[in-house]
Amino acid sequence: MSVVIVGAGPAGTRAAEVLIGAGLRPTVIDEAPDNGGRIYQRQPAGFHRVARVLYGFEADKARAIHETFDRLRASIDFRPRTLAWNLRPGLIDTICDGKARAIPFAQTILCTGAMDRVIPLPGWTLPGVFTLGGAQISLKAQGCAIGARVAFLGTGPLLYLVAYQYARAGAHVAAVLDTTAFARKAAQAFGLARGGATFVKGLYYIAWLRAHGVPIAESVTPLAIGGEGQVQSVSWRDARGTTHEVAVDAVALGFGLRPEAQLADLAGVPFDFDPVQHNWVPRKDPSGKTPVAGVFLAGDGSGIRGADLAEAAGARAAWSVLAARGLAVDAGAVARLDAQLAAGAAFRAALERAFPFPAKLAAGMADDTILCRCEAITAGELRAAANETLATLPPPEVNRAKALTRVGMGRCQGRVCGAAAAEVLASTLSCPVEEVGRLRGQPPVKPIPILPAEAA
Ligand SMILES: Cc1cc2nc3c(=O)[nH]c(=O)nc-3n(C[C@H](O)[C@H](O)[C@H](O)COP(=O)(O)OP(=O)(O)OC[C@H]3O[C@@H](n4cnc5c(N)ncnc54)[C@H](O)[C@@H]3O)c2cc1C
Repeated sequence: MSVVIVGAGPAGTRAAEVLIGAGLRPTVIDEAPDNGGRIYQRQPAGFHRVARVLYGFEADKARAIHETFDRLRASIDFRPRTLAWNLRPGLIDTICDGKARAIPFAQTILCTGAMDRVIPLPGWTLPGVFTLGGAQISLKAQGCAIGARVAFLGTGPLLYLVAYQYARAGAHVAAVLDTTAFARKAAQAFGLARGGATFVKGLYYIAWLRAHGVPIAESVTPLAIGGEGQVQSVSWRDARGTTHEVAVDAVALGFGLRPEAQLADLAGVPFDFDPVQHNWVPRKDPSGKTPVAGVFLAGDGSGIRGADLAEAAGARAAWSVLAARGLAVDAGAVARLDAQLAAGAAFRAALERAFPFPAKLAAGMADDTILCRCEAITAGELRAAANETLATLPPPEVNRAKALTRVGMGRCQGRVCGAAAAEVLASTLSCPVEEVGRLRGQPPVKPIPILPAEAA
């Protein structure tokens, strides 16, 4: 039986490369129209922008991933535009162009990547508000800016990178608003320097933005996104308590990344709370092997480590699969990958500490803020449920809060609101956020069409 890789980004590509090198023909599933994943996403057919423009400093790495995948294509059962929406023992349920199909596997490597972490604030549901990733996809995939005057709000390296990409593309960046204080980042300088070229590139983006007159504010407390039917402004408070407002027609919002780990969840992989990432991450050993037989993890979907380490982790997980199948393993290659993954961990931890998830911001959101936009549930409704029921009838747990309020029960299944909902709940119940747990994954992991019987 085949090895099935879910995700054709850097991790999935390198996993496929190792498996093919051992004579296997893996199945690779991706919901995207082609390979590349998030960072090296390929441009749509008919678009012909040069790699330098599209991928900037990462152009050579993007080219290497694309060329590798193209070279391997004939040896892969590649299924693009195919969403893996459920995982059962030995089977992955998929849907492609409206056609459902269960794909059997002996081993699967889940390389499903990450998505933005969001903190709702008043006005975040207005047209014109995007996640940072959404804003970047718009630029990379379609060559479109999300607005004519854009504010970038949140924290993390992606904040500065996407602002830089917009400014370079000719968009007007009205402000970069970072919730993290400069001192917090400076305190991690030693650990960040271990990132070498990646760290230098990060400094360059910030320096470029400053040199081109882009206003950058740090240590901000976002207050609201204003507008009637469309974004018109964003306001914030600085560290001294002064309120500011800037006129914009779009806002890109993001507070770091969270692993897209729902398939691992459905497979029964246990999760642990990582206090440095402030994320729940699926459990795996350094080789990507999980406690569930046949299920392996690699890349950002198994914990945020960035694109370079995603490549290494993909290859490493594939060697782990080969070992599980009783095939020969190149001990030298494995040792090099293990060393690369271990060396990268220190930089990643410094990055997470330098741009911490502003949990207090989420916990303190105003009662009338829409927390779960799919179901239109406010933070106040969640607090009321916490005070009235969860505080008196334990366990005080986020899945019970979901049942009581419908928070996280809509189309996104809590992928957008889950992290903030847990913070609101934990602060209301005065307990650490890990004690309220995490929203359990439910199939379908992303919305799927329901077709009439004759069309199925
Ligand atoms: C929106 C966004 C923008 C980013 N931009 C940058 C950047 O500019 N620079 C940078 O250094 N880092 C960036 N990052 C981080 C970077 O993308 C990752 O570190 C890197 O891509 C991780 O590689 P990966 O192979 O683990 O996952 P990815 O590259 O994310 O690939 C995962 C693939 O899995 C597919 N997939 C996921 N779930 C399913 C499913 N259920 N069924 C089928 N297919 C599925 C996705 O379509 C995707 O192609 C970004 C992250 C995000 C979320």
